Amino acid sequence: MDSLTSRRFSVTASARVAQWAALGTSFLLSFACPAPAQATHETQFSLGAKAVLERHFAGKDISYLLMDASGSVVAERWSSQRPISPGSLVKPFLAVAYGEQHGNHFPTVRCLGTSTRCWLPAGHGPIDLENAIAQSCNTYFLELAAGLDRKRAEQTFARYGLAGPSADAGTESLVGLGAAWKETPLALARAYLALEKEQQSIIQGRIMKGMMASAARGTARGVDSALGEEAALAKTGTAACLHVPRGAADGFTVVLYPAAQPRLLLLLRVHGVTGADSAKVAGAMLRSLGAGQSVSEGAGQR
Ligand SMILES: [Zn+2]
Repeated sequence: MDSLTSRRFSVTASARVAQWAALGTSFLLSFACPAPAQATHETQFSLGAKAVLERHFAGKDISYLLMDASGSVVAERWSSQRPISPGSLVKPFLAVAYGEQHGNHFPTVRCLGTSTRCWLPAGHGPIDLENAIAQSCNTYFLELAAGLDRKRAEQTFARYGLAGPSADAGTESLVGLGAAWKETPLALARAYLALEKEQQSIIQGRIMKGMMASAARGTARGVDSALGEEAALAKTGTAACLHVPRGAADGFTVVLYPAAQPRLLLLLRVHGVTGADSAKVAGAMLRSLGAGQSVSEGAGQR
């Protein structure tokens, strides 16, 4: 792709993200969910959610998987369940593996940017686990990956139902760089649900804090921008685009909503944009389903 085409592509991609984000004003469903009628409500919600998402987010560049807290699929549009490389969405699982091998202790790492292989050219400076998740710092996670027993890490990944990178893949694959770590969308979504359910544990609790910070002020800030302050837990990923024609990138976002007690998980891929831009679309999608509309349902309470 020449630079002019590439620029034109990214302009149209940004314009589309802005269009989708503007759709966040369609409040078509209520999240109010009285417990006694839950089963019926879930069915109605699923039907309603499918209709709303198909109507407003039908662009061929958008793939999504919407799940309830039990791991059942509420709505989905993903062309296949072939394994994908979700970029930095794998970082939290690397963090769990590292923490388990290092007595729950995590380092503070100095990110110098390009020279330490981070995506942010100027670097993040000294950074801890929570901020590294919020900012998706490559330098931080490359440091963790370098100190990992791969065999034991495989067992950790397997516990979450993840395949992990192939045994001969380089260290960078553990942070989601390159395409050697592939997971199906379903496995990845369920792994995040499992992670959230363990948030009373030290490592998983710190990861969830990082995901809350990501949605509030990190790479996934497009989510809370749409849903309200501290509404959600989120993580982004930016991966090399494997579509034809080739886009600048594929942006991924996973959102757990609401933050205080997640009832929904959204895994989203937007072709041709960064992870941060896909977070804006994720926020708009959840808002179109009624999320972020009422403080009484828990958004903004934590
Ligand atoms: Zn960094």
